[in-house]
Amino acid sequence: MKKFFLKTFGCKTNQSDSNSLKNFLLNRGWQISCENPDVCFINSCVVTRTSEKKVLKEAQKLKQISKRVIVFGCLTPQLKETLKEQGVEACPVRYRSLSNGVEDEIVFSGTGPRYFLKIQNGCSSFCSFCIVPYVRGKPVSFSPQRIFQQLHMAKEKFKISEIVINGTNIMKYSFENYDLLKLLEEISRQTPARIRLTSLSLPFEKDFVRRISQIKNICPHFHISLQSASNRILKLMKRNYTREIFEETVAWFREFFTQPAITTDVIYGFPFETDADFKKTVDFIEKIEFARVHIFPFSPRPKTLAGLFNTIPPDVLKKRRNILKKVIDRVTRKYKQKFVNKILDVVVEEKKNGFYTGTSQNYLKVKFKGYPESCGIAKVFIEKTDAEFMWGRQVRNE
Ligand code: SF4
Repeated sequence: MKKFFLKTFGCKTNQSDSNSLKNFLLNRGWQISCENPDVCFINSCVVTRTSEKKVLKEAQKLKQISKRVIVFGCLTPQLKETLKEQGVEACPVRYRSLSNGVEDEIVFSGTGPRYFLKIQNGCSSFCSFCIVPYVRGKPVSFSPQRIFQQLHMAKEKFKISEIVINGTNIMKYSFENYDLLKLLEEISRQTPARIRLTSLSLPFEKDFVRRISQIKNICPHFHISLQSASNRILKLMKRNYTREIFEETVAWFREFFTQPAITTDVIYGFPFETDADFKKTVDFIEKIEFARVHIFPFSPRPKTLAGLFNTIPPDVLKKRRNILKKVIDRVTRKYKQKFVNKILDVVVEEKKNGFYTGTSQNYLKVKFKGYPESCGIAKVFIEKTDAEFMWGRQVRNE
């Protein structure tokens, strides 16, 4: 029996791709193992320089346990030569080429209980800092028929409690007379599992939010990338919105959903970001009260316009990072505190040391004492919160 090991870096799309590859190999009798695997796969991410370093380090580490290390994913074209010199194989961006043309079978697959359903690939927005359009190419939407077929197959195979709709830019979903809304409405009709959306790109209409709120099993969690709250910087980033549009959109979600989790990404130290620009972002984070904020230092990427500049010195970057961490810690604690003494619906993902761990509908990580063999979605009474988790105990379903 052949053995493989798989390490994933990067976003939810990469996680989805890795799940697909894992599933594909398991279905063909391969076994996951970190002891002398025949092949080690690394699904790479190109978004920051740090991930580049991490991938190279991981490749070296895995060379110690396997003769064959294959790197695939977004970073591959760029690192092809370096990897070759290190005796590591580089596969083209789309991992599907690993599987000798059986792409249909693996493009959509994943595993439960949180099932990553990929609906499109690629982006043509060309934000000035982003390398993704160069490596993932133009947006390609998968046909609804194939998505529904995959969903059907997945339902038969796995116990799915949550479907994570993902893609490089899901707002670009378009296939014949289907747009994202129509696709979600149909998915909702076909499954009782709850549905979570990954990143939503602005701008969109209020009616989009209203119709999303009418989909009965949609999770009240919306990830909208802010990147900066300075309109000057947003313009330099070539983003198609202003801070005012962002704020108005958040207000719509709060109008149609009860205490939704609004999560976001922020880039600090973008070229020519002044202290005043940065302060606008910090104040905005405080004002919006995000449930979670991922922060990234600006990282110049090849081929991108912003990659030609790198104007912010490391000590300023460090200072800005510390300021952001403090404000984020404050606002996210405030959001989490709202759910103490409340009941959350938690998808059970893991059991360790007597505690279950899972994800709530509003994307909080929950640790709880549960009933034996707890699975699916557990009702959890939240007793307290700390920096990482919500802590609680399972209660009986009414
Ligand atoms: S929308 Fe912008 S940041 Fe997002 S993938 Fe496309 S180019 Fe990159």
